[in-house]
Amino acid sequence: MKSVQEPAKTQTINLLDFDREGLAAFFVELGEKPFRATQLLKWIYQEGVEDFDLMTNLSKSLRAYLTENCTIATPEIVLEKIATDGTRKWVMQTGCGNRVETVFIPEEGRGTLCVSSQIGCALACTFCSTAQQGFNRNLTTSEIIGQLFVAQKRLGSENRITNVVMMGMGEPLLNFDNAVAAMNLMMDDFTFGLSKRRVTVSTSGVVPAMYRLTQVCDVSLAVSLHAVTDELRDELVPINKKYPLKELMEACRDNAKIAPRRTVTFEYVMLDGVNDSTQDAQGLIKLLKTVPSKVNLIPFNPFPNSAYRCSSKEAINRFKTLLNDAGIVTTVRKTRGEDIDAACGQLVGQVKDKSRRHLKVQAAGSERAA
Ligand code: SF4
Repeated sequence: MKSVQEPAKTQTINLLDFDREGLAAFFVELGEKPFRATQLLKWIYQEGVEDFDLMTNLSKSLRAYLTENCTIATPEIVLEKIATDGTRKWVMQTGCGNRVETVFIPEEGRGTLCVSSQIGCALACTFCSTAQQGFNRNLTTSEIIGQLFVAQKRLGSENRITNVVMMGMGEPLLNFDNAVAAMNLMMDDFTFGLSKRRVTVSTSGVVPAMYRLTQVCDVSLAVSLHAVTDELRDELVPINKKYPLKELMEACRDNAKIAPRRTVTFEYVMLDGVNDSTQDAQGLIKLLKTVPSKVNLIPFNPFPNSAYRCSSKEAINRFKTLLNDAGIVTTVRKTRGEDIDAACGQLVGQVKDKSRRHLKVQAAGSERAA
């Protein structure tokens, strides 16, 4: 067991990398009581205090140890775009010079933050802008929770973040431990205290991790479905070749068993002439018969060199009506932040291009350097 008088370690510990359990274990290892974890969480997340010296209910020696060995390091906003509808998109600089996107969507009575879990993504979904960047690395717990921390600080108290969706760059279930630790932190009463119904993890269908998630973290589940036959889903969401629809739906049913009154949300991007026919809608109705579901239809947001076009409004409405008539609650995602248009993953590309050309982010209009 280490004492708080120990000499400084060479590596600084970022305390945002710990959830409450991890932090309690950290303090116990230092010879401290586990309740130090709740004290520290309150200082950081509720009081907004980042200077250990100001944490007056910690002993002097512990404060000195934390100052010497620990840090509270968050990502840094390097680009902010604010749309006329209030949507904000940020590019945040994380460690090692990497960048991620985080988006805030204000709506009547709630504010949703879309959080990234990886730098890039390895899963190569053909309709996805992030996929074009390939995979760089997993985000750490501090880089995931840090997006919420930084966003809430930036928004101030008049714009509360009430919901979080792990739907930004990356596949969260391929960064399982860090994503789960960050979601546990989001729901902790001593941090943001978000309800488990208001934290949603979105997966493209990493089936073994879905079963694991059901066991260890009680959050809402969204599945990026996008096709109702293995043949088409193999093309749109290639991880389907490894975990085909039958296995995916079984994992969804398993999740529904834990919280029977909760529904699984199925995301379905609307691609003109690809997956938007009456036959596709009928296939979807059949597929979802045994899972308590709702469907979110997403009008495709084209990006440079994408091979797809968005379905027409008529096709989307026809699709929605067919699902609704079959008793499946179906919504069409509103296009938000159109005047700062960028499909997920595109802003990071813009910042990269600018920095390559040694251009500074311009502090002009609704786009400003932070
Ligand atoms: S849709 Fe999600 S899982 Fe698929 S490539 Fe994009 S970020 Fe990765």
